[in-house]
Amino acid sequence: MIAAIDIGGTKIAVGLVDDDGHVLSRAQCPTDPGRGYREALGRIEHMLRAMLTAADIRLTGIGIGSTGPVDPFTGEIGDVNFFPAWRGENPVRDLSRIFDVRVAMENDADAAALGEAGWGAGRDKKRLIYVTVGTGIGAGIILDGQLYRGVDGAHPELGHHVIDASGPLCDCGFRGCWESLAAGPAMVSWLKSEMPADYPHRDNLTAKRICELAQEGDDLARRAVDREAHYLGLGLANLVTMFAPDAIVLGGSVMKSAILFLEEVRRTICRCCRFVPYEKTELALASLGEDANLIGAARVWHHRFAAKGGTLA
Ligand SMILES: [Zn+2]
Repeated sequence: MIAAIDIGGTKIAVGLVDDDGHVLSRAQCPTDPGRGYREALGRIEHMLRAMLTAADIRLTGIGIGSTGPVDPFTGEIGDVNFFPAWRGENPVRDLSRIFDVRVAMENDADAAALGEAGWGAGRDKKRLIYVTVGTGIGAGIILDGQLYRGVDGAHPELGHHVIDASGPLCDCGFRGCWESLAAGPAMVSWLKSEMPADYPHRDNLTAKRICELAQEGDDLARRAVDREAHYLGLGLANLVTMFAPDAIVLGGSVMKSAILFLEEVRRTICRCCRFVPYEKTELALASLGEDANLIGAARVWHHRFAAKGGTLA
């Protein structure tokens, strides 16, 4: 039994995941980074101990997926936008000491990629790219069951490759990177910049709401969806051209409305990827659902330590 911990910008989720990737129990709390790392660690310990007592089981290990950057080898938290004051803290070392088990941590997109590759829509794919589209765009690359790592274990940032150099400025330093054009907030800011003063749906606009409005026939929301599909398709077509993968698995909150985008995405790939066998790249939707992050975090442990889950890359 693996304890899975998903550390996000807004919430921390904890769960127990069995060796087949099933979540047996779960709990969560706000990340609340302002209260400090030690306090958050205390909450994680408290949730996990309560869960272990209730389930009356022995823990094998702990897997963590965290919003990044994090160092998968040292276990240190890097310069994370959501909790800059936690830089240099080490949940791998701390939780290993507290629970006396081996602990492994990866960037959360890599964790979700490992989950889909091990127990989800990416099973048995030799060359797999997992892409999550939500408040940002994250991706993980799995080759022959192993996580692709950059220099020093760095997580490559596929969400920040440039689609339109005259596009909006992003925190990464680029203009018009994929995330700045095709993540959920990009839909909202584009629609807000286009909406007339008397637009009836001005309040509480989110990517989800825009997708609903498009399905109800709202013209401006439809254009926002078309634009989203266009940029989503360009980024995915780039990945197909650069990696020619067996499959791309799509997850994240925006992809809950995938039905609105996929046709145009496929058209774009078909139009742009002439020099690779794009028709052989399967475009699949993530299959692990709401628990995807916890399942992915558990898979991080298997990938690192279990024979079946692969070896340390
Ligand atoms: Zn960027």
